[in-house]
Amino acid sequence: MARYTGPLCRLCRREGEKLFLKGTRCYTEKCGIERRKYAPGQHGQKRGKLSDYGIQLREKQKARRIYGIMENQFRIYFKKASKMKGITGETLLQLLERRLDNVVYRMGFAANRREARQIVNHGHFIVNGRKANIPSILLRPGDVVEVAEVSKNKQTISDSLSIAEHRGLPDWIEVDIQGLKGKFIRIPSREDIQLPVQEQLIVELYSK
Ligand code: SF4
Repeated sequence: MARYTGPLCRLCRREGEKLFLKGTRCYTEKCGIERRKYAPGQHGQKRGKLSDYGIQLREKQKARRIYGIMENQFRIYFKKASKMKGITGETLLQLLERRLDNVVYRMGFAANRREARQIVNHGHFIVNGRKANIPSILLRPGDVVEVAEVSKNKQTISDSLSIAEHRGLPDWIEVDIQGLKGKFIRIPSREDIQLPVQEQLIVELYSK
């Protein structure tokens, strides 16, 4: 599956705010936004006022970049959310939060979502006792995610757990750090998903 492999700080700078796409570095003065608070590119420091469309577009791009989703797949999530019960924007974010790679990141087993996707792809996780190597699997309440037995000594996982305290653990998941496993307790509400995204603007953009 296609994915963005370019510099991550550039994405934050383009959106003009921290998206926390890396890991420890995002919490230090080395953060790209702390060092250069303007958009990348030749005209990055001169950009003018955005139109309504521009504002909606940026909000959608920001959400895509936070979750590391390409445009086509993001649109599929939107279509799925719009057919489900509830508020479309909120449902969209809930679908994205339920992805296995996102839950692995939220549990602290990866420093960022990109790394989470990679370690899931490489087969380091088990869901409900079965090997799961597809990052887009949507978890349901009660699902148990654990590090595969052969991967329990993997350095990147223990390093990530040691820095996960920066982020804090959301209360819709439970983690047993010693046992290297966690439980997806419930689908998060909008208040639980503390992201700087105005999802209503994404709905307006796609509803044109
Ligand atoms: Fe974004 Fe993290 Fe880079 Fe800062 S260090 S610009 S938060 S990815």
